Amino acid sequence: MTSEKLEHFKRLLIDQLRQHTQHIRDDQAAALDLTDDGVKDSVDMSLMDVNKEMALRLGERESQAVADIDQALLRIREGSYGICARCGQVIDERRLEAVPTARYDAKCQALIEAENGDDTNPSL
Ligand SMILES: [Zn+2]
Repeated sequence: MTSEKLEHFKRLLIDQLRQHTQHIRDDQAAALDLTDDGVKDSVDMSLMDVNKEMALRLGERESQAVADIDQALLRIREGSYGICARCGQVIDERRLEAVPTARYDAKCQALIEAENGDDTNPSL
């Protein structure tokens, strides 16, 4: 991959990182706001807990996304960005445009998802 291309993907990743860290700050602020509310009756209380739980869970998902972006930026520094971590083939640039954090080419991703099928089921 050319250094111009690497710069391009680095910019995409940093943009995404900025968006995600903004989300995390908003979520944490929302969670804090909820805990700062005064005494409520039991119905409001349980609603409050649900909202807080959702905000925290969203935060976890955002944290995972940030970790993925961090890993991708590390691979750019190490020179392994855009190379499939499983088979060593070059990852299609169109795939990287769509998913800049991709660690695998489409073929290996499909195989991995088939192996870990249960993990992709929504938990809610
Ligand atoms: Zn592969």
